[in-house]
Amino acid sequence: MPAETSPFLLEIQDLTVHYGAAQALFGVSLGVRPGETVALVGANGAGKSTLLKAVMGLVPISGGRILLEGREITGASPAELAAAGVALVPEGREMFGDLTVRENLELGALPLGVGRRERRARLEAVLTRFPRLAERLGQPTATLSGGEQQMVALGRALMAQPRLLLMDEPSLGLAPLVADEIFDIIHQLARGGVTILLVEQNAARALTASRRAYLLANGRLVGQGESERLLVDPELRRAFLGAASADNPAASRLGAAGLTNIRLVKPVMTTTFMPPFRTLEELQAHQLAGLRWTVRHAYEGSPFYRERLEAAGIRPEDIRSLEDLTRLPFTTGEDLRDQYPFPLRSVPFEQIVRIHASSGTTGKRKILCYTQKDVDDWAHFFARAYEMAGVTPLDRVQIAVGYGVWTAGAGFQAGCERLGAMALPVGPGNIDLQCEFLVDLQSTVLCCTASMGLLMAEEVARRGLTDKIFLKKVIYGSERSSVSMRRRMSELLGGVELFDIPGLTELYGPGTGIECPHHDCIHYWADYYILEIVDPETLKPLPEGEWGEMVVTTLCKEAAPLIRYRTRDISRIIPGPCTCGTLLPRHSRILGRTDDMFKFRGVNIYPSSIDRILSDIPGLGSEYQVHLSRDEGGRDHMLLKVERGEGVEPGRVDELAREVRYRVKRKLLVTPEVEVVPYGSLPRSERKSKRIFDERITDSVV
Ligand code: ZN
Repeated sequence: MPAETSPFLLEIQDLTVHYGAAQALFGVSLGVRPGETVALVGANGAGKSTLLKAVMGLVPISGGRILLEGREITGASPAELAAAGVALVPEGREMFGDLTVRENLELGALPLGVGRRERRARLEAVLTRFPRLAERLGQPTATLSGGEQQMVALGRALMAQPRLLLMDEPSLGLAPLVADEIFDIIHQLARGGVTILLVEQNAARALTASRRAYLLANGRLVGQGESERLLVDPELRRAFLGAASADNPAASRLGAAGLTNIRLVKPVMTTTFMPPFRTLEELQAHQLAGLRWTVRHAYEGSPFYRERLEAAGIRPEDIRSLEDLTRLPFTTGEDLRDQYPFPLRSVPFEQIVRIHASSGTTGKRKILCYTQKDVDDWAHFFARAYEMAGVTPLDRVQIAVGYGVWTAGAGFQAGCERLGAMALPVGPGNIDLQCEFLVDLQSTVLCCTASMGLLMAEEVARRGLTDKIFLKKVIYGSERSSVSMRRRMSELLGGVELFDIPGLTELYGPGTGIECPHHDCIHYWADYYILEIVDPETLKPLPEGEWGEMVVTTLCKEAAPLIRYRTRDISRIIPGPCTCGTLLPRHSRILGRTDDMFKFRGVNIYPSSIDRILSDIPGLGSEYQVHLSRDEGGRDHMLLKVERGEGVEPGRVDELAREVRYRVKRKLLVTPEVEVVPYGSLPRSERKSKRIFDERITDSVV
């Protein structure tokens, strides 16, 4: 057709795409007019991303045509498309983590051969739009939070000053508040005249942001129209805003979650548990006083610490600045077990009011003593964790973690009471009672492990209770959680807000920090302990932003103070202040434990890297297992068992397995065997789920 007759800037005619034998798109036709924002909406695996990739020439097409202003661009190279004014903001951001923010942004203008002066002007324009990036220009992009990385991805696309912007799942993996910010920017761009094709799994967001929308299910176009009308059409909501599977009525609630996630207004809090510091200097002065007190207290109260400090040639009066921290010797879990049953004890027995223990997987348990002040301090900062998560005395807090010698239940309970909210101490397990309380007592906050949270979410959905419960928040801790696990937990519970809460028995227990209300990081209580990140091999402190082992030193813990205690948890300190406005410093969610890491054919692998890869593959469930074995020839094998997503057809198993194999190989440089098993067939547990099964001979070093 002649160029001038097409009303569309982008027109797709009868597009068909196959991945091997599997068909991903079935004759899809759509058009985007100049200046319009058009959304492409559908569940996981509906074919949305495939369509974008086909436009960008990233997947081969088996039929149909793609036109830009009436000229055929089918199969054009990414460079040709860039020259024609088409830019893609890819899913998962796909940034070059080692490059700085500035370098990543400048890459956006590179294929166009833009001159230096013009490039600088464009960079200025992008930074005006994203002031947060201006502060981070020289930082490696990998050190940024998820929301900030998405801004870099958007900014990079804008550097090309595109006429047509293709956006792939801009809110994926982002917390609601961060996603709001990204969508504000999308609105601004649309108002500025940029034509946008928006692919988004969160139907409510996509429809709110667009003028028209196309609905995609199982690779076929199943509806289209004005977004405003689609948003309120009850039948379409039921059918397409959910998981797009008619045989799963509960799924409609999933998409609706985005529409009904209303935040209740917080009552005014009369007390606060936040620290009183107004500047970083005040906080550091407090830390130095605490460090000096701790070293003297440990030296005088504990023969173990006295011996250690003397061996290192350190006397309490030698600690004059915070830098002196690095001169102190490390303490380890082995030290605690060696001194069983009362390790690190630095006060007389008559001052000890309680003990807690951690489940030792090897040898003796770690038992920790508490004075009354320790117990009070813990309750105080745990109340702070609730406060930061927006929990108020009006809330009803269902505590579904273990009570007894474990620190979990005791901590959640004490913090809740200190805050003044209503505690429902159910403990772990007992799903019937949990469901009964969620409905009858109208709990608004659920505290649990991540596995338990997912189990409860699935159980609530299975029993058809999603509309009958009142949960607003889930505070979960004590194990890693993947992006897909979080997404699923939140969706099944009607769009609840999730807060990851870290903790460690040696360091009081859970509640030593909490995920920020902006959901970009974990704030930790730097007025109670100092966090260092060290290289687990060399024990050298690492610069801010780098991943390593968390090492903690307490500032006022009496019964069992910690001096440079190696936690074995892997995280990183995120540099710079948080957008939520608190002075409290922040670390990333815990990536794993140094001892969870396994070696496979010479490659160090953290289970969380597998989580991340699987979370990014549409059509997969959130459960998986890694089985490691060794054959008679001494060669190691990895079998990855993954669940297909709920409602995903069994016919897609081969295609999914291929995708998993491909992505694992690309990211981890190892090739696993992959078995895709039916949804719900891998065990879920109320406690930490075991995911790594290492059946190789491990005693060969003995
Ligand atoms: Zn924050």
